[in-house]
Amino acid sequence: MHPAWTEIDLDALAANYRLLEGRIGAGVRVIASVKADAYGMGAVAAARAFQDLGVFALATGTVDEAVAIRGAGVTLPIVLFNTYLPGDAARLLEHDFIPTIDSMAMAEAVSRAAPRPRPVYVKVDAGLGRLGVAMIEAPGFIERIAAMANLDLQGVYTHLAFAHAGGRDWAAARLGAFDALLAELKAMGIQIPVTQARASSCLLAGLGDSCSAVCVGHAYYGLSPYSEADVGEVAGLRPVVRALRTRLVRVARHRQGSDVAIGGLYGLRAGMRTGVGAIGLSGGLSRPAPGQDAHVLVRGRRVPVIAVSLEHLSLDLGGVDEAQVGDQVTVFGTDGSGEISLDEVAAWQGRSPLEVLSMLAGRTARRTLDGGGAFDHSSEAPAGDQA
Ligand SMILES: *Cc1c(COP(=O)(O)O)cnc(C)c1O
Repeated sequence: MHPAWTEIDLDALAANYRLLEGRIGAGVRVIASVKADAYGMGAVAAARAFQDLGVFALATGTVDEAVAIRGAGVTLPIVLFNTYLPGDAARLLEHDFIPTIDSMAMAEAVSRAAPRPRPVYVKVDAGLGRLGVAMIEAPGFIERIAAMANLDLQGVYTHLAFAHAGGRDWAAARLGAFDALLAELKAMGIQIPVTQARASSCLLAGLGDSCSAVCVGHAYYGLSPYSEADVGEVAGLRPVVRALRTRLVRVARHRQGSDVAIGGLYGLRAGMRTGVGAIGLSGGLSRPAPGQDAHVLVRGRRVPVIAVSLEHLSLDLGGVDEAQVGDQVTVFGTDGSGEISLDEVAAWQGRSPLEVLSMLAGRTARRTLDGGGAFDHSSEAPAGDQA
């Protein structure tokens, strides 16, 4: 039993999906990124939702996540985006996942371990400088992969993440270079069914390319790849993880001489009313960054966070006299007329919104909002138990 939970809005996921359709273009296939536990919302729930929405394939990094998705009855192709070591090849082939090839050692290991031709994608480094075959080596490398007996080259992709809108020019140039590579492969007579370069940032920046697919994560979850300070809110995207809540497990009034010490803070004011919420560092929160004040909502009102300890939040309930044990504590989300945004929580923690969400994965229960606006409590389970 997790004492804290997130609230997941699948209607928002569908609305974000529809909103982006116009930017993706007709006839372009969609690979939905569900990596990192679907950016905190839960990989299995996200995979099921994307299957219902009709995406072409899913992409994730870890094999365990892919196994959980398959185990939940999702039949879509699953591309493994992470780079693995050649020694992992046999394990990667135990399931019907599509591995990424970005070295000759990996290509040979997969080819050796595969009893018959296996679909694979090749990743090209178009400038991010992280994973993938260098652009300059890509034509020769891909030609060799296409000729290997046990590899069925189904896709060639790259990743063009850029952190702020100013990265647009860089991305446009890199997209151009990737398009030129694809033209060169075509001229060499190599057919590649799936080609992909654009992720959320390219789509939101309005960039186009000649590829047959896109791969989107951030934007489907209502997260902007850019900071709000940089571009403002991205019009129309709705947060899929709508709230993080727990409950007050204790309410107390501190008398003179009964001062407590929590989180390095000594000497609470005499007569101060405090409350304790059941989420802390182990639930994925962090302490307020230097100089930052943190607040949560109790009975719709903002109350200051006094301390964040391993499993608890200590609160100053001075402004909410009627607060009682069992009351909801909202870390972000709405409660009555009160609202705390994920961006605000990210700001007091000195993290990005995505970092906040990814810290929650596996540490909180999840409740899924159904079409009628109620939360399905039967879906309440820690992330790892959802499969
Ligand atoms: C994660 C990932 C994406 C999705 O990126 P977003 O910014 O979340 O849309 C696309 N392509 C690749 C190769 C990725 O690894």
